[in-house]
This record gives sequence, C-alpha cells and structure tokens, in this order.
Amino acid sequence: MRGAALSDELSAAAALCGQRDQRLTEPRRRVLELLLAEGQPMKAYDLMAAFGAAGQAAKPPTVYRALDFLEKQGLAHRIESLNAFVACRRGPVTHSAAFLICDCCGLTAEIEPGKGQEVTDLGAHSGFQVQSLTIEAHGLCKACQV
Ligand SMILES: [Zn+2]
Ligand SMILES: [Zn+2]
Repeated sequence: MRGAALSDELSAAAALCGQRDQRLTEPRRRVLELLLAEGQPMKAYDLMAAFGAAGQAAKPPTVYRALDFLEKQGLAHRIESLNAFVACRRGPVTHSAAFLICDCCGLTAEIEPGKGQEVTDLGAHSGFQVQSLTIEAHGLCKACQV
C-alpha cells in the first residue's frame, strides 16, 4: 500500500485512536506506516532499520513500544511463529485473528477465525478473560502447491 491509500489508512488509524483518547504519536504512526506499506509481516529488526526516513535506525524500545501500542489498539498483530508483526486492516476493535502462512514463499493472509468467539465464551465461562487470540496456520499457498 502506498500514496493516497496509505495516507487514508493512517488518518483513519489516528482518528480511531483519538476516539479512544489515545494518541497515534509520531513513532507509532511511522511503525504503522511501515507495516501498511509492506503489507506482509515484518520483523522488529527490519522495522528499526527502516524507521528513519533518512536511513537512520530507530532504538529498539521505540519500535517495541510502538508495536505494543498498535497491538493493543487492534492495528497490528504479532505472529509468534514468524516472530514478526503485521498491520491489521480488518476491524477497529481488538479481535481474534487467524493467519494462513505459506512456509514456501512466506505469503501471509489474515482470515476471520470462526471459532474465535467460542474460545472467548468458553474462557468467560470459567471466569477467564481472553484478551487476545491468534491462530497461526502453516502450509502452502496456491502458487506454491504446484
Ligand atoms: Zn486483524
Ligand atoms: Zn507460497
């Protein structure tokens, strides 16, 4: 994603944060911008390296704090098995997420997990408050199956 679509997405994210009395500060905005521009999972290391427009790297805490914020706002997901982060454009609220991850080319797609609500409900049943749920499915994408 780039150009107008990217700026629109960033404005929408800033507005969303505003509604929640949160601020999409410059570092948070920059990390989200990088994730949206990439469109695929990125490692924190790569985010640090790409952070400065003039090529200067960011300090690790800057990027980690920004990622933490974006995750809490439902604007990004952490993909544990890839040790990477990806922008989320599916919904304004924190939601359970599922990823289809191609082990051959690395292509990753987010899908809506059907069972997400069920896990949350079952948790609530036993007095457990589910705050995040991420399903990571590994396999081969269509193009890599041939
Ligand atoms: Zn998502
Ligand atoms: Zn593939």
